[in-house]
Parts: sequence; C-alpha cells; structure tokens
Amino acid sequence: MRKPLVAGNWKMHTDSSQAQDLASSIVSRVSSVTDVEVVLCPPFVWLERVAKLVEETGILVGAQDTFWEDWGAYTGEISPLQLSEMCSYVIVGHSERRHIIGETDEIVARKARAVARAGMVPILAVGELEQEYKEGISKEIVSNQLSAVLADGWDHEIVIAYEPVWAIGTGLAASAQYAQDMAAFIREQLSSYGLNQERVRILYGGSVNRGNFKEFIEQKDIDGALVGGASLKAEEFAELVMMA
Ligand code: PGA
Repeated sequence: MRKPLVAGNWKMHTDSSQAQDLASSIVSRVSSVTDVEVVLCPPFVWLERVAKLVEETGILVGAQDTFWEDWGAYTGEISPLQLSEMCSYVIVGHSERRHIIGETDEIVARKARAVARAGMVPILAVGELEQEYKEGISKEIVSNQLSAVLADGWDHEIVIAYEPVWAIGTGLAASAQYAQDMAAFIREQLSSYGLNQERVRILYGGSVNRGNFKEFIEQKDIDGALVGGASLKAEEFAELVMMA
C-alpha cells in the first residue's frame, strides 16, 4: 500500500553540465519504472534545468532545503513558493544542515510546515549522532526531532528519512536490523501524533549502495532510501530504483 520512494540527494555536487548529464542518464535508465517514485534533489541552481529534463517522465524533483517564510526581505534565501513551481518534495532537517549550519528542531519544524503550506511534501530527515548512538539514546533523539514537527498537529503528507548521522557518507551503513528497529519505532511514534502510520513512507539513508540496499528494502518498515553518494552515479542509482 506504500509506494517505494528512492530519492537522490546530490548535495553541493555537480556543475551545470554534470547535472545535465546525470539527470539525462537517470531519465534514460529509469523513466519506464512506474512502481517506484523517483525523486532527484539537485542543488538549487540546477533545479529548473533538471525539472525540464524530467518533465513527463514520472520522475520528480525535490529541493535540498528551503526558507520558512513565503516572501520578504531575506537576502540569499529561497521561498517554498518559488520551489513549488518545480518541486514536489523538499528535504528538511538533513543532518548536514542540523550539524554544520546549526539548524535547530524549531527551525526544521518551521521549514516542514512551510513546505506543506506551499503544497509540497517534506522529506523530514531525522537521526542520531555517533555519540548519541553509543550512549544508547537514539530513540530519544529521533523522538524529539519528530515531536518538534508533529506535536502541534500535522495533516499533510510527509515522508520520514531515518539517517543515523554516523552512517552518512562514511561507507558504514547501519545494519538492516537496526534500521528496521528504528523505522518501526518511528512508525509507532507517528500514530501517537494521529498520523495514519500505515500510509507514511519511511526511508533509510546513510551509505546506501548497490551492495546493501536490497537488505534495507526487504525490511517491513523501510519504504525506500535517501541516497547521497550513490545518487551521483546514474548506473548505480538506477540499480537502486530497480531494487526498490
Ligand atoms: P550518503 O548520504 O548516501 O552519501 O551516505 C545520504 C544522505 O546524506 O542523505
């Protein structure tokens, strides 16, 4: 009942011609796939270009971040309403924004609400740091991150990406069993906020590649992946889509 979703987070990679080539190559490999939702999240500056390339292919475009206000004097920021002209999804709360840029749970919550208000779907990234994992407080951390967004009520579509920070870009993915345990915990939490837990898609992220994805996608509560490094290689990304 939940359609698998594979999202590629290109982060701050690709110049214009690389973005063009990557998107074209992905289109040629996966545009016939209809049973998996494929979302490409290029840097802001290539969004429009990529959106044009995927037009009418069924592949969707997502942004990696947004500002929380719709319009105004916010130099350098990008409005969710601007993004909504070309995006279906927006990643909010990615760990690189939480931990490098310093976004708080409250900022992430504002952004998630702004995305929904603009008619797009937030991909809310949550996950614990390595130290928190070692201390055994992963569930507490993730539960606080979810609560910041959902506790005031949520009646829009949302996708949750569980990404243990220690697994992102390290080549050390979590075990499929651990990811499943966390996904099941997240699903349980969703119902406590009144969301229909059977409908919300939960993705795993953190060093997903062609060698480990099958194990993740076989887990009962994991509905896809948020992919960083492997999403920059068209062939590998397409393989992940085929596996989902
Ligand atoms: P990674 O990144 O696949 O390169 O670990 C995942 C992410 O940051 O979403």
